[in-house]
Amino acid sequence: MNAVHSLQTLAVSIRSVRKVYGDPHNGPVALKNIDLDIRDNEFFTLLGPSGCGKTTLLRMIAGFEFPTRGEILLYGENIADRPPFKRPVNTVFQHYALFPHMSIAENLAFGLESQPMGKVLSKAQIGERVREMLALVQMERFAGRRPNQLSGGQQQRVALARALAPHPKVLLLDEPLSALDLKLRQAMREELKAIQAKTGITFIFVTHDQEEALTMSDRIAVLAEGEVQQVGRPQDIYEQPRNRFVADFIGETNFIQGTVTRVEAGLAWFAGPAGHPLPAQSCSELQVGATVALSVRPERLHLVPAGSQGALPCRIEAQIYLGTDLQYQVSLGDGSRLTVRTPNSVDHSQRFAVGSDAGLHFDRGSASVLLD
Ligand code: ATP
Repeated sequence: MNAVHSLQTLAVSIRSVRKVYGDPHNGPVALKNIDLDIRDNEFFTLLGPSGCGKTTLLRMIAGFEFPTRGEILLYGENIADRPPFKRPVNTVFQHYALFPHMSIAENLAFGLESQPMGKVLSKAQIGERVREMLALVQMERFAGRRPNQLSGGQQQRVALARALAPHPKVLLLDEPLSALDLKLRQAMREELKAIQAKTGITFIFVTHDQEEALTMSDRIAVLAEGEVQQVGRPQDIYEQPRNRFVADFIGETNFIQGTVTRVEAGLAWFAGPAGHPLPAQSCSELQVGATVALSVRPERLHLVPAGSQGALPCRIEAQIYLGTDLQYQVSLGDGSRLTVRTPNSVDHSQRFAVGSDAGLHFDRGSASVLLD
């Protein structure tokens, strides 16, 4: 398939979707007004804290829940009337839900015999598909085993193979790695990403783990309290968070208060703590005199000797050894505290002593203006 065409085809379109559980006037509002486009062949992640509505959205795409208002299109078609088993969609759950009395091969075949998505397959075709899927997840050797004879990671791979076996157009994954230990989870991230790329199936992945989202996704939608906060590539979300929630939820960040002193040619200049100038930012939506927060990641702040030109004066309050990095806690003139992270250099003369004065420097491109 032509790559440009594939990027532009929409797999799932969520249009003005609102979801209220129970009484539509007084029930709990799970989703307020969601608009999202998920492209064909994309690894798309719904990321947000517990209760933000991720699972509700996934269950509506699968057909287990219905929007109170709005519509969901699958490849351009409104699927409101289609029951779950008639949608070209399958789900991998956090708990593998394999049949304990069947072998791994039988678990996969069972789902294909019941004609998912309206397709009828012959016995030979089913056998072939089972082999193909077990090979995809590197589990051919285990075809004859029962689920309880497999490790958690192996069971999760089987659950993935079973969900992929009917060749869905869209695979929904509801926190599928959360039951695994850290090392296995990290290994499975790479495997999942590779399987998605190999099959070309659109993956919609739900997680509250920002690292998981950043490492696997083509694009991420960050949700909070039933609303989309930002949609973008991992680097967009991390480097240019749109608001305080996204900046704080994804990775670690520092907030520096600044008052706008000048706006010109798409740039805004700020006075930081104690009136020190901060690097200008691309932002034309601000008025002179407004106070906003800038978000700067710890690794984008650089410590320089006290008195260096253009640096924000600070004091070193603490130094923490993190192995690969050194982390400093510094205080500014207004008492606010920031975190600075630098690669751990063998050159000890590069280190700053606790209690000493220093300067802080950051580039214009390293800060994001947070508009709310
Ligand atoms: P988690 O990460 O904890 O699974 P989530 O982001 O997936 O959370 P949802 O399960 O979609 O969140 O829930 C969104 C909101 O809707 C929550 O406030 C939840 O309490 C509420 N909710 C979910 N299911 C129901 C239900 N069946 N009846 C009433 N309220 C519900």
